[in-house]
Amino acid sequence: MPSAECETCAGVGTLETTCEVCEGVGTVVDECQTCRGTGCDPIEMHKDCSVCDGGGVVNDGCVACRGSGQVTVFCETCEGSGQA
Ligand SMILES: [Zn+2]
Ligand SMILES: [Zn+2]
Ligand SMILES: [Zn+2]
Repeated sequence: MPSAECETCAGVGTLETTCEVCEGVGTVVDECQTCRGTGCDPIEMHKDCSVCDGGGVVNDGCVACRGSGQVTVFCETCEGSGQA
């Protein structure tokens, strides 16, 4: 039986898909660790937190896709062989 290229991954064996963690943006919004999301400086409470500028959240690079917004996943159709 002749082997053919897997149509799902075009013979590569892996697929590039949009990162589900950051939805392709490459960054994730996280609670600020310095002020714990309050937006206030933990030492001088009347001041805005210098890390998040009072917003209480910071943009962090996505760990799942390393900031690229895309992840390479194993092709389940051909089980990584690239052949149908
Ligand atoms: Zn991501
Ligand atoms: Zn903060
Ligand atoms: Zn495949």
